Amino acid sequence: MSISANLKELRNELPDNVTLVAISKTHPPEVVLEAYNAGQRIFGENKAQELVAKQEALPSDIEWHMVGHLQTNKVKYIAPFVSLIHSVDSFKLLKEINKQAKKQERIIPCLLQMHIAEEDTKFGLDKEELSEILESEQFRTFENVQVVGLMGMATFTDDTDQVKREFRGLKKLFDDVKKKYFPSNSNFTFLSMGMSGDYNLAVTEGSNMVRVGSRIFGARNYGTN
Ligand SMILES: *Cc1c(COP(=O)(O)O)cnc(C)c1O
Repeated sequence: MSISANLKELRNELPDNVTLVAISKTHPPEVVLEAYNAGQRIFGENKAQELVAKQEALPSDIEWHMVGHLQTNKVKYIAPFVSLIHSVDSFKLLKEINKQAKKQERIIPCLLQMHIAEEDTKFGLDKEELSEILESEQFRTFENVQVVGLMGMATFTDDTDQVKREFRGLKKLFDDVKKKYFPSNSNFTFLSMGMSGDYNLAVTEGSNMVRVGSRIFGARNYGTN
């Protein structure tokens, strides 16, 4: 199926309140443009260099999201334009984003990435680290980052009960965090969970932002990239 047909089908499947982030990593700008021409405006990448290269090559009304692990020394490259960083997994990184955003005279929206999977290869904070960040004195002084929600990646498994459990746990954490730390802050709204293989489960469990790549663009070929 074509990219535009895939997108159309996906949009029909997703409830209206769910934001679709098209993950274009490894695909060249001309392929991304096909999705753009089909109406998609929000794209995500998992590497800073690739994000910068595509932002430069593609229309300026695209909202670019960073979804992959971000090294502090790369923040400066994406700070001028990035619309949302999904993958904030340390206090140090949040501090650097604040610093670079300040230089750009911007406020950068961020999601705190939680570790919900069984695999320890996936990045993310545990609940204790999350509380430490949100309760720290320094966090309150950050004027150039805005925490607008949480992100998580489920275990890569056929065990749908496990995936469901992990998503449900993250939704509960999201609700608890909102209540405790952001009760009167209407900007804390995004729960980014769900990819090509599990977005249906994620949406059922309360996701309102899905990051979908191969379901739109087809399988990725890392070998020639
Ligand atoms: C690649 C990637 C996705 C999309 O994966 P698909 O399985 O192709 O939909 C989502 N989130 C992150 C963080 C990714 O790196």
